[in-house]
Amino acid sequence: MHSNKTIHNIIRKKTKYLPAILIKIETKTITIVLTKKVNVLFFTKNPCLIVKNILLSKKLNLKKRSITIHTLPYLIKFAHQNFNMYRSHNCGELRASHINTEVTLAGWVQKSRDKGFIVWVDLRDRYGITQLVFDEERTSKTMMEQAQNLGREFVIQVKGNVIERASKNPNIPTGDIEILVSELNILNKALLPPFTIEDKTDGGEDIRMKYRYLDIRRNPVKNSLIFRAKVAQEVRNYLSNDGFTEIETPYLIKSTPEGARDFVVPSRMNEGEFYALPQSPQTFKQLLMVGGMDKYFQIVKCFRDEDLRADRQPEFTQIDCEMAFVEQEDILNVFEGLTRHLLKEVNGVEIEKFPRMLYDDAMRLYGNDKPDIRFGMEFGELNEVAQHKDFGVFNNAELVVGIAVPGGNTYTRKEIDALIDWVKRPQVGALGMVYSRCNDDGTFKSSVDKFYDQGDLAKWAEVTDAKAGDLICVLSGDKNKARAQLSALRMELATRLGLRDPKVFAPLWVIDFPLLELDEETGHYHAMHHPFTSPKPGQIELLDTNPGDVKANAYDLVLNGNEIGGGSIRIHDKGTQAIMFKHLGFTEEEAKAQFGFLMDAFEYGAPPHGGLAFGLDRLVAILGGQETIRDFIAFPKNNSGRDVMIDAPAPIDDAQLTELSLKLNLKS
Ligand code: ASP
Repeated sequence: MHSNKTIHNIIRKKTKYLPAILIKIETKTITIVLTKKVNVLFFTKNPCLIVKNILLSKKLNLKKRSITIHTLPYLIKFAHQNFNMYRSHNCGELRASHINTEVTLAGWVQKSRDKGFIVWVDLRDRYGITQLVFDEERTSKTMMEQAQNLGREFVIQVKGNVIERASKNPNIPTGDIEILVSELNILNKALLPPFTIEDKTDGGEDIRMKYRYLDIRRNPVKNSLIFRAKVAQEVRNYLSNDGFTEIETPYLIKSTPEGARDFVVPSRMNEGEFYALPQSPQTFKQLLMVGGMDKYFQIVKCFRDEDLRADRQPEFTQIDCEMAFVEQEDILNVFEGLTRHLLKEVNGVEIEKFPRMLYDDAMRLYGNDKPDIRFGMEFGELNEVAQHKDFGVFNNAELVVGIAVPGGNTYTRKEIDALIDWVKRPQVGALGMVYSRCNDDGTFKSSVDKFYDQGDLAKWAEVTDAKAGDLICVLSGDKNKARAQLSALRMELATRLGLRDPKVFAPLWVIDFPLLELDEETGHYHAMHHPFTSPKPGQIELLDTNPGDVKANAYDLVLNGNEIGGGSIRIHDKGTQAIMFKHLGFTEEEAKAQFGFLMDAFEYGAPPHGGLAFGLDRLVAILGGQETIRDFIAFPKNNSGRDVMIDAPAPIDDAQLTELSLKLNLKS
């Protein structure tokens, strides 16, 4: 056997074009690691193989020893950390302990300050900012000139020595040091960006969306994307540990009704036929249950072609789940666990209680099926105490309903008038608002004193739970409308009063949703959740007589006034599903054509099952304490469904239309 020294020498010789390979020789093994000078490009050429071939060549008798070479992923990880040709460190990691180290950094020029004899450059990458210094005394004249001409967002690489800063910057982690640059490479020049790459930028939403790749360089967007990835990772951890299997379902499918229009895709190979993009993987996940997969989840894109009310996206992401052999309680427990896990891991918040509220109560007390329960201001129904006086507006109303605004008696007349204007805006739609001030001395002063005496107003205060110093705001009219209007007012006032602290988390299960919902315009019922939701046991007969009263095994998880998820126990037998389709207005033929595959599957042993889906974009935004989901989507669309960066949607050319057997019939 060769001596260690001989092996060393032979390997050195054989690997001289890979000078950085270090060899540790032990009795039974030879371990190979790559040092930091190794070119990262080298890794793409399967280093293990190259190195092994070299070492196993005839001249080197290694029979008695095994060669351990770190596997490729490990090397690549290593490479990212240390062995990168472009940089030895990132721009966020150097500290005082690195002083006197030779380093190589790469990144973007955030800004430079040129004092003539000295130039400071802030070099930025994803990890932070490091200050570079060039000065007349220590920097060559050419490099000095190069440094002076660096523009914002130029991509550069520098080599240099870490030195202590004369004036330290306590605001950034690298603020104790700077790099005295000995070598400067301009890797790429950059045009002047159309907005500043700063946390608070001068760029408006439109321009930032057009140049989203520049926007992503800004901390708020970058951090939001990293935050989203963390949430998704924790979702995967939690559900995988709980025995869920992540399974992909197809995107080119047939309509799955979730209450929106489908996006459709023409099929070239099947002339005149179209796929629909999934509004959700609903039918597929049910089929996975019939397939015996038991616990499924998927972080999945869904597509819904609906008018984009503020902060909706035509394509969005769901955490979609389904479980077999479960009842509602099982599902609520699993997803309560998931939400608790996320709040703990991502926000460091421990939540004990996930209260439950009946849908009917949510509507009665908050006028809303997703109440924000971080604050009170519950509705008080005033019909009994406010009707049958001489005030016609209330007498003719289906519902008279009010809330007590804490401390609202301090509002001036002008402020109250502005509030009345606010509820009269078309977006809210109230015809007016009655109010009653609750004075500190226990008396009341209302806008309808003509019709109501102090005793009447005291009853209003009792019903709305108003205290001295509060303001009672009362709306009236059609029950559903008045509730919706007062709900909007409640949320607005709570926002103004600072009662909606994004750092406080108040989850709530809303349960026992109605199965069907009446479409006022058409007079038809449609599924409130979707057509596969099962009615509560024993209520199916009611479908014929009082369809609007049938309750479903359906539930929503609400967080801080936002619906973050919803689901149901499903129908799992063909008979019930057929009755349901009938009530939704499908003929037998239509039901068969659209959902025959599901009905057929139900005849081959479908287990009882149910599930739920969380909206990931919204969930992430709430956990991140933000209002808008766009910040958490790398490439979002605008309110008209456009991606203004790539300019989509866009016309397609005639050849493509012909290939798809399509002719356009444009309205304008
Ligand atoms: N597919 C439903 C939705 O997208 C969720 C579910 O019922 O599981 O809302």
